Amino acid sequence: MLTQSITTVTGIGEKKAEELASMGIHSVEDLLEYLPYRYEDYQKKDLAEIAHDEKATIEGKVHSEPSLRYFPKKKSRLSFRMLIGKYLITATIFNRPFLKNQISLGQTLTVTGKWDRNKMTLTVSDVHFGAFSDDRKIEPVYSVKGSLYGKTMRKIIDQAFRQFSGMIEDPIPQELRDAYRLPDKESALRMMHFPENFQALKAGRRRLAYEELLFFQLKMQIFRKWNRQQSEGASLKFNREEVDAFTRSLPFQLTEAQQRVVEEILRDLSDTSRMNRLLQGDVGSGKTVVAAIALYAAVTANKQGALMVPTEILAEQHFQSLKELFAPFGITIALLTSSVKGKLRKETLNALSEGEIQIMVGTHALIQDEVNFKNLGLVITDEQHRFGVNQRRVLREKGESPDVLFMTATPIPRTLAISAFGDMDVSTIDVMPAGRKPIITHWAKHGMLDRVLDFIKKEIENGRQAYVICPLIEESEKVDVQNAIDVHAQLTSYFQSYDVGLMHGRLHPTEKDEVMRRFAANVCQVLVSTTVVEVGVNVPNATIMVIYDAERFGLSQLHQLRGRVGRGSEQSYCVLIADPKTEEGKERMRIMTETTNGFELSEKDLELRGPGDFFGNKQSGVPNFKVADLVHDYRILETARNDAARLVNTNKFWNDDTYKPIREILTRQGVLDKERLD
Ligand code: ADP
Ligand code: MG
Repeated sequence: MLTQSITTVTGIGEKKAEELASMGIHSVEDLLEYLPYRYEDYQKKDLAEIAHDEKATIEGKVHSEPSLRYFPKKKSRLSFRMLIGKYLITATIFNRPFLKNQISLGQTLTVTGKWDRNKMTLTVSDVHFGAFSDDRKIEPVYSVKGSLYGKTMRKIIDQAFRQFSGMIEDPIPQELRDAYRLPDKESALRMMHFPENFQALKAGRRRLAYEELLFFQLKMQIFRKWNRQQSEGASLKFNREEVDAFTRSLPFQLTEAQQRVVEEILRDLSDTSRMNRLLQGDVGSGKTVVAAIALYAAVTANKQGALMVPTEILAEQHFQSLKELFAPFGITIALLTSSVKGKLRKETLNALSEGEIQIMVGTHALIQDEVNFKNLGLVITDEQHRFGVNQRRVLREKGESPDVLFMTATPIPRTLAISAFGDMDVSTIDVMPAGRKPIITHWAKHGMLDRVLDFIKKEIENGRQAYVICPLIEESEKVDVQNAIDVHAQLTSYFQSYDVGLMHGRLHPTEKDEVMRRFAANVCQVLVSTTVVEVGVNVPNATIMVIYDAERFGLSQLHQLRGRVGRGSEQSYCVLIADPKTEEGKERMRIMTETTNGFELSEKDLELRGPGDFFGNKQSGVPNFKVADLVHDYRILETARNDAARLVNTNKFWNDDTYKPIREILTRQGVLDKERLD
């Protein structure tokens, strides 16, 4: 077994073992699977193939006597001409003056260094006397600690492979390997540690990524399967006719996409297994009515429904709009936030536990201990990515396996949807209600502020309203960005004949409410705010969204903010004020001006920022992979997902010897332990 201690590898004594242990390497297996984090490319190249600034190895003849120059502080530069094929280049070597005597005219050298295409100069980091030798081509670079050197690491790993060759077990059965022409595990590991060329490296990597993602997805699919089995019998017997009557009562016709997701949700509700569904749809795509229909369906089945949202403003807004929609149907709906206090709170909680309240809208106040439902049948969370996994679970536990629907306006890149929500079903609203005009987005430098203000003024004179977003509430010494309080003061004096409101997270909830109400009623024409207006707020007459220091926000957040306008029939605009310093920042601004499609943006955001940042919290459930990379390995992930979903429903997977190694590993990881299910 390869689980034995690394001291069984010849040449590893107590001291080395200790150092390796500090790197997380304890067993032989750990060592064999300790992969290089990058590679040094010593393959000989043709000059013409080498890109500017690329590091490369070339072979040629010395064509001039080396000349040596000294600089202060013992610095020196040795340079000489080299003939590479038909090209004459300059080779420079810094701070190694002693090499002068070892290099002579006509000598063959192999040099590695950084290529400057414009100056035809190679800045040499590595000299090898003589012709290119075949045994140093691609060299693995390991991350090492203490007194361990990369060279030692390579030697130790080489030794381990010699000693334990043929003993590395492969958990992936032949049938899967054949299907995708994957090398076996030992070969793949060898390809990673001793790559003959980049193709082999790629093949080895692909194989290890598949294994990693398959295990990850098996875990997801097993949870999904058990979750469903566990909640058998929780069928919601809603009244289809009443639901249809409610849908007909809406002031508009559902879009095709809305109809489709409503059907998906209703099917889940009536199904015997518990719904665990993610509803994603761009800002303004009309998720609220879908939620309303689902909640209404729950009520017709004599169950209670709950809608949980991340902010008070949003809770109140949802409460108001649901109240209106449900008014003709005699449904009792209540609001619970931290501002609902005293007697009213007590009464509300009482009525809820008595079952008198049919639909409860609220913030995370809903998941406090004092809140008891009588018979909670459906839980919906809006903008769910803002809630941690745990909060989601607590709400779910308030009923006897209620159906659960998560809604999000942050379109989740496909890879992350599969990863973080792999145990869920996903519904997508991918069509906007008819008649919406795409928001026109401009990117302006700070110097163009006057023109931006003129533009806002013109729109206001036409009866429209504007949001102005700032990254900070008040002046900060740490960062030089616009703050809402100063901007509010400036704009108040600029827009003298109009009312300019101020909104930020430090206002008391009732103050916020008041500001929002004034803006919604067009008492106030310009609203200066921090990102608290980010989610859900709906004021159709607002047509301009100005975002100061826009480079400080991620694409998804900018998209969310932009989604506050474009909610009515008038043409809407978004102006990003930004002087980004990095290429990435500029790229983000460009992307914003080019697309209004949230899904496209989310994919780009993922590419630019990586998955770690995406959800803004560590509870996303996406593990750190050793080899796999969610951005680039999408196809492998998808394949692994499909395989996992298929496998967990086969007898072979659960009983056959073919899959025994996989089952054993999953058991060791605690995945097959049903007790751990949440
Ligand atoms: P979001 O998906 O961002 O939560 P909302 O549910 O707030 O979007 O809907 C945005 C606006 O679109 C609301 O004013 C809503 O009444 C309206 N709306 C929703 N569905 C339709 C539809 N099918 N046709 C026309 N307007 C719609
Ligand atoms: Mg919404």
